[in-house]
Amino acid sequence: MLNTLRNRFEQGYRTTKYPKEKIELWKRYRGRPQIQDASPAGMARACAEACPQDAIDSEKRVIDMGRCVFCGECEDRSQGTFVAFTQDFEIAVSEKEHLITDGAIPDLAAHARQHFKKLFGRSLQLRQVSAAGCNACEADLNVLATPFFDLARFGINFVASPRHADGIVVTGPISRNMKTALLETYAAVPDPKVVIAVGSCTLTGGPFRGSPEITEGLDSLLPVDLFIPGCPPHPLTNLHALLTFFK
Ligand code: SF4
Ligand code: SF4
Repeated sequence: MLNTLRNRFEQGYRTTKYPKEKIELWKRYRGRPQIQDASPAGMARACAEACPQDAIDSEKRVIDMGRCVFCGECEDRSQGTFVAFTQDFEIAVSEKEHLITDGAIPDLAAHARQHFKKLFGRSLQLRQVSAAGCNACEADLNVLATPFFDLARFGINFVASPRHADGIVVTGPISRNMKTALLETYAAVPDPKVVIAVGSCTLTGGPFRGSPEITEGLDSLLPVDLFIPGCPPHPLTNLHALLTFFK
């Protein structure tokens, strides 16, 4: 017991002060992509051809963050002259078309639905549905319960039963086998309810795009309120999205 108390004393208070204070991420982190205006058209085309996700439109000079898996190939190939990834992790959006960007992303707070803030601002209970995810998106949601992020201090929790939930958080490419389970879980959540799509797989099919075994976009099945891009999205991206949209 004394050892436990001594350890707690030595470790001190570890919970992040974000969002009250800014937080710096490790420099290798790839956040919001920024297209460089001055880069030649040939470089844009070379990046588009190299992109494994077909996420770059070289004519319009935009990246679809819903498809992007943030592999960094385009930045490496252009040596940052066509696209450079910023440290900005606040990249969730409320409309799917906002995922297609040249670097500018609409302010999520301005698109938050006020009735959700009224309903869920003090208490938001979520059921996570892993619809064939690889477990990375799930792990980076799970980590929000640890002392560093301490999601519960904001009144947001993950619950076991959809009947106790205010909404669902979906990860994975929604395989054929998981589709019924997902729709039944959604149906079991009482109205009014929210739907949050997390990760490239759920937004567009991610690395599994083109497979007949998956669903290319949760929004083709359910009304999605919040789109959180990444592969997987950083826990801070998830935290920022939840706090901005519901608090
Ligand atoms: S970082 Fe995104 S846009 Fe760039 S090559 Fe990878 S998947 Fe394509
Ligand atoms: S988006 Fe990426 S990390 Fe998330 S489940 Fe799909 S493959 Fe895994």
